[in-house]
Amino acid sequence: MAERVHNFSAGPAALPLPVLEAAQRDLLAYPGAGASVMEISHRSKEFTEVIETASANFRTLLSIPENYKVLFLQGGASMQFSMIPMNLLGSGQTADYISTGSWASKAIKEAKKSGTVNVAWDNKDENYVRFPEQSDLNLTSGAAYVHITSNETIQGTEMQAEPETGEAPLVCDASSNFVSKSLDIAKYGLIYAGAQKNIGPAGLAVVIIRDDLLDRAPDGLPSMLDYKVMAENDSLYNTPPSWGVYMVMLVTKWLLEDVGGLEKAAAMNQAKAKTLYDVIDESGGYYRGHAVAEYRSLMNVTFVLQNADLEKKFVSEATAAGLHGLKGHRSVGGCRASIYNAVPATSVDALAAFMKDFQQANE
Ligand SMILES: *Cc1c(COP(=O)(O)O)cnc(C)c1O
Repeated sequence: MAERVHNFSAGPAALPLPVLEAAQRDLLAYPGAGASVMEISHRSKEFTEVIETASANFRTLLSIPENYKVLFLQGGASMQFSMIPMNLLGSGQTADYISTGSWASKAIKEAKKSGTVNVAWDNKDENYVRFPEQSDLNLTSGAAYVHITSNETIQGTEMQAEPETGEAPLVCDASSNFVSKSLDIAKYGLIYAGAQKNIGPAGLAVVIIRDDLLDRAPDGLPSMLDYKVMAENDSLYNTPPSWGVYMVMLVTKWLLEDVGGLEKAAAMNQAKAKTLYDVIDESGGYYRGHAVAEYRSLMNVTFVLQNADLEKKFVSEATAAGLHGLKGHRSVGGCRASIYNAVPATSVDALAAFMKDFQQANE
């Protein structure tokens, strides 16, 4: 087998080694099925157990209340940018969107195609370095919902507390910090995540939706875009992305059994992020973090060096040293270390040591 590197990719991103090993072990014959999960009916006894276990694992991990459904949908998180307004934003209504970065901006752009959007706060002028205080928000009374992105994967900022939205349900794109810590689901109307950051392979989105929101869909919505149809069919209206659901089942099992739940995951994530932010803060300005300290992401650590040439050198020498995926997103430049649940502390320690060595050699 080719050697595995320290993987800091932003997404698709690192998966837990025990998950990959389990998938490899059962690739040719899933126990009881005599064939790969990819080769059996999505209505078979074996796959039914897979999808039900994945859903139950989320319920356990996040203590999801009874009046919420867990859905497995296709089209990644980006499909949700459209599905949300198509289902929840009635004509004559306004949806509030909080513009915290690149992903929030994309969600806003799509929502505007479906209805009226009020941008309740926009941090573009500051180059997306923080999240708003409650008093910063310009919310619409009677809004259909309020949308927030809980972790900006590209800028490396993270929500510290849910905004108060009154009667309006809070809708959250949690793609890049989903199951990185525990959450009070009751604060949300809908929370969604593309799988490829923290919970599985690309192409699949997990949506947790409160029951009363299922009835908001207008008549005539295509079935594939209708939460109610998906909920009534337990995500089996059509053939679901069965391999992705299987991988999510394995990842959530790993979180429950190997990691020991989301409190443990959160403690690990805090320690990992601290290791890198300490190197940045103790570098005397050699490395400079993008985000305002209070809103730093525990998942995506973004930083710059003195100039683009030095950043290029940093990334190429890191790659040569087995530290992969550190180039910042093309839209913001700099460097980014994505340290999701599955990135082990040993990888983070290796990066921290590399950063110190690099500074010493190039100062
Ligand atoms: C990656 C990402 C998306 C897009 O996910 P796709 O599955 O590619 O559609 C949306 N929101 C956030 C916060 C992301 O990190």
